[in-house]
Amino acid sequence: MKKFMLAGLATVAAGAVWAEYPEKPVNIVVPFSAGGPTDKVARDLAEALRKPLGATIVIENVGGAGGTLGATKVAKAAPDGYTLLLHHISMATSPALYRNMQYKTLDDFEYLGMVNEVPMTLIGKPGLPANNYAELTKWLEANKGKVNLANAGLGAASHLCGLLFQSAIKLDMTTVPYKGTGPAMTDLLGGQVDIMCDQTTNTTSQIESGKVKAFAVTTTKRLSTPALSKLPTLDESGLKGFNVSIWHGVYAPKGTPKAIVDKINAALKTALKDPEFIKRQEALGAVIITDGRLNGAEHKKFVEAEINKWGPVIKAAGQYAD
Ligand code: ASP
Repeated sequence: MKKFMLAGLATVAAGAVWAEYPEKPVNIVVPFSAGGPTDKVARDLAEALRKPLGATIVIENVGGAGGTLGATKVAKAAPDGYTLLLHHISMATSPALYRNMQYKTLDDFEYLGMVNEVPMTLIGKPGLPANNYAELTKWLEANKGKVNLANAGLGAASHLCGLLFQSAIKLDMTTVPYKGTGPAMTDLLGGQVDIMCDQTTNTTSQIESGKVKAFAVTTTKRLSTPALSKLPTLDESGLKGFNVSIWHGVYAPKGTPKAIVDKINAALKTALKDPEFIKRQEALGAVIITDGRLNGAEHKKFVEAEINKWGPVIKAAGQYAD
C-alpha cells in the first residue's frame, strides 16, 4: 500500500513537471546546412509551431555525413523535449548505406509525426549547354568522365536521387558532397558543379527566376506548382518507374516522457493546419501530410516500410558506405 502511494505521488509530481513543458526554448536540429531545403521546411515549421507549442524554437544546423551527424546528436540528447530532430527520407536510407551508424533508426527515437512530402528536380548550372532533358542526356554522354554531380553527402536525398539517376542512365559521374544542398546550390550557381538533384523547397525560386536550368521532376506525376508545372517527369522522359519523393518527420530522443511527446504531437497537428505554413510550403511544391502518419505510431510504421523499400534498391545500385 505504502509502495503504491509513493509510486502514485511520484507520478503526480512528474506529471506536474511535464505539464509545465515547455519552460525554455526548444531546439530543432536540422541535419543539413542552413539555407537548404530541409532547413527551409524546418524554419517554416518553427514559425507555425511556436504558438501551439508555446515556446521559442531555435533551429540548429548540424550538417555532415548525409544527415547522420545531426540525427546522432538528437539520438544521444537528453530525452526532455528540448532537443528535437527534423529529418527526411535519409532516416530510412542511411541504415543501408552506413555500416557504423551511431544510432538505431527504429529504436533510438520517439516518432512524433510526419510533416510533408517534397518532390525533387533535376537541375543544371547556368550556361550548361542543354535546354531540355533529351539535350541533357546527350551532353552527359558527350562529357562522360567529366561531369560533376553535387549532393549533400552519402545518404542524403540528393545522393539517393543522383545515385538512382546514374544507375538508370548507366553513366557514372564524379559526386561532390556538401553538408547540405544549400551550399551545393551556391556552387552550382557559380558553375563549380554541373548538375544536382534537389528538393523543390530549394529549387523552386531558382527555377522560377531562371537562375538554374531545370530538366525534370522525380515524381511520376507532373507538379501543379506554377513554376514547376511545365517540367516533364523523369518517368515520361524515358526512365520508366523513376519515382523519388522526399518526406520529412519530427523525432525526439527515445525515452522522452509520453506527456511531452503527446504535447508536441498535438502542437505539430495544429501547426500543419496553419494556412500560412500550408501556403508557403505548397508554393515550394511540398504536400502537407494530413493522413494517419501525423501520429507517431503510423509515422514509425511508414519509416520501417521505407527502410525495407530503399535498402534493396540502394544495394542493387551498388552503393555502400563506411
Ligand atoms: N535535405 C538536404 C539539405 O537540406 C539535401 C539533401 O537531402 O540532399 O541540404
